[in-house]
Amino acid sequence: MYLSPVATYDVIIIGGGLAGLTAAIHLRKEHHRILLLEKETYPHHKVCGEYLSNEVVPYLHHLGIELPTNIEINTLEFSTQKGRSLQLSLPLGAIGISRYALDNCLYKRATSLGVDLVFCSAESIEYKDDIFTVKNNLDQEYKATFVIGGFGKRSNLDKMLRRDFISKKSPWLGVKAHYQWNNFPDNLVGLHSFEGGYGGLSKTETGAVNFCYLVTYNSFQKKHNISEFNDLVVAQNPYLGTFLKEATMVFEKPLSIAQISFEAKDPVEDHVIMCGDSAGLIHPLCGNGMAMAIHSAKIASELIHAYLKEGLSDRTRLEKEYTIKWYRTFGKRIRTGRRLQKLLMSPKIAELLFSLAILSPGILKSIIKKTHGKPIEV
Ligand SMILES: Cc1cc2nc3c(=O)[nH]c(=O)nc-3n(C[C@H](O)[C@H](O)[C@H](O)COP(=O)(O)OP(=O)(O)OC[C@H]3O[C@@H](n4cnc5c(N)ncnc54)[C@H](O)[C@@H]3O)c2cc1C
Repeated sequence: MYLSPVATYDVIIIGGGLAGLTAAIHLRKEHHRILLLEKETYPHHKVCGEYLSNEVVPYLHHLGIELPTNIEINTLEFSTQKGRSLQLSLPLGAIGISRYALDNCLYKRATSLGVDLVFCSAESIEYKDDIFTVKNNLDQEYKATFVIGGFGKRSNLDKMLRRDFISKKSPWLGVKAHYQWNNFPDNLVGLHSFEGGYGGLSKTETGAVNFCYLVTYNSFQKKHNISEFNDLVVAQNPYLGTFLKEATMVFEKPLSIAQISFEAKDPVEDHVIMCGDSAGLIHPLCGNGMAMAIHSAKIASELIHAYLKEGLSDRTRLEKEYTIKWYRTFGKRIRTGRRLQKLLMSPKIAELLFSLAILSPGILKSIIKKTHGKPIEV
């Protein structure tokens, strides 16, 4: 579709992951003029555990999104490095769906509603006289009343905005691949630790099992490559050892991403409303990042809609309200996730916690509740 080099929109959304796509759909449904800039085409795989908490499913249905999966997850299996394991039922549960299918289905919904989409990399954002100008790598520029930053964990725009976290090195690396393994039940999510990291196992809509792990660079770099690391370190956990021995990888090779930062970020930066990982990333062991991306997009969209519809001119109030709502909704989960990850990474403490959890499974359930939200009301 041809777009004039200078176009005027109500909202420009940068990044068409879950946060960006959700905001685009929500705001377009309210008849606002929306431009979405995304640098990758759909569909594509992403490093993610692909465990989508049920708390956002009713909201996605409300947006007219039919989720193409039958995988319903209601049980967590947890194991320590030594292979001590327990299972417990999940308070809220989740669905198993690949990012390949999920992002693509949101993308189709967004374009069917009339969201303008340009596949490009946004290179700069300027705010002047109450109007944003966004320039991309195709030498185009667009103007809008609002910009939503949905550009994920780490982007060229974080540098442009001189965000604090981007200058700090992060020790975390993520690895993911799909496998065929008939022994894995549909309703289970596995969380298994190993030296320097932990991995999740759960089924996706195709029947393939997603194995995704997070590991410190320190631990990973002692081996030459992913295959060697899997054989010599990951497989030390007996559960993961059996999985890696019996399962067949469906991908040609695993996907990986480096420099995953869990540093605090600001939910509003230079008047840009940040949603999803651009506002803050929860530790993946919580299985809540996707839900938070979708939920934060809902919060931002509602405030922006109120502003545009009612012609409010108090941008400062909107930004303040978004910041307060963001911390109130997600602050506690992020802090709990941070503490939990620290405990899990210390094998001795993890074993101790495990013994406690065996004696009182209620402890684990209450921790899980603290890392998730209540189902979103629509
Ligand atoms: C190892 C690991 C496992 C995880 N497992 C789970 C899990 O099981 N369950 C769960 O709920 N969460 C999980 N998460 C978290 C989850 O993946 C993220 O929270 C979620 O993807 C956030 O969505 P988002 O839309 O903010 O970002 P993304 O999905 O990363 O989307 C950002 C988009 O912005 C685009 N972009 C970036 N810069 C630009 C630019 N300049 N111009 C245009 N486009 C741009 C990118 O191409 C990308 O498509 C996991 C995370 C990790 C690291």
